[in-house]
Amino acid sequence: MNKLEARKIALKRRIELYNDNLNNLVVKKLIPVIKDYKNIGIYYPIGKEINILSIMDIYPDKNFYLPITNEEISFVKYNKGDALYDGLFNTKEPKGTIVDRSNIDCFIIPCLAISKSKKRLGYGKGYYDRYLSNYNGIKIGVIYKELNNLDFIDDDFDVVLNIIIEG
Ligand code: ADP
Ligand code: MG
Repeated sequence: MNKLEARKIALKRRIELYNDNLNNLVVKKLIPVIKDYKNIGIYYPIGKEINILSIMDIYPDKNFYLPITNEEISFVKYNKGDALYDGLFNTKEPKGTIVDRSNIDCFIIPCLAISKSKKRLGYGKGYYDRYLSNYNGIKIGVIYKELNNLDFIDDDFDVVLNIIIEG
């Protein structure tokens, strides 16, 4: 199938798959994966995305960064308790200085689906594709296990994930 069809299926399926317990399961799996990284890009969950924010409590000495969305995405340092403001697409965003991508060791990225060749399907805006093109750090995808290895036709420009964490 094409990406448009895959998005439709995944968005629908995700409503059925949503379960609070998966948040903790995914955070538990993330703990050893990010152990050796200091600067970590995370995300504020929207819709039925798995919520990984409690990873910040496990590692109070690491630096975490949240995306802010304008024409493109960029990342801003987020300390627990910092004020968050409404962004585009129902996200919450900190205010602060944009950090250069090269200062972030790994990104934890919400995925709507993942193809058989480990490529990420997003909501169709290509924000992460552009932001992470030629990025040399680690890209960690978070996904409902039922939406991993989905059979859709991906593109050359889609983000390839190095590590996949299933919920
Ligand atoms: P998503 O990744 O959010 O699922 P798509 O993969 O469908 O969305 O990408 C949306 C659009 O973003 C593409 O049609 C393409 O025009 C644009 N795009 C993606 N990656 C790049 C890139 N590296 N350079 C320029 N445009 C890009
Ligand atoms: Mg893409």
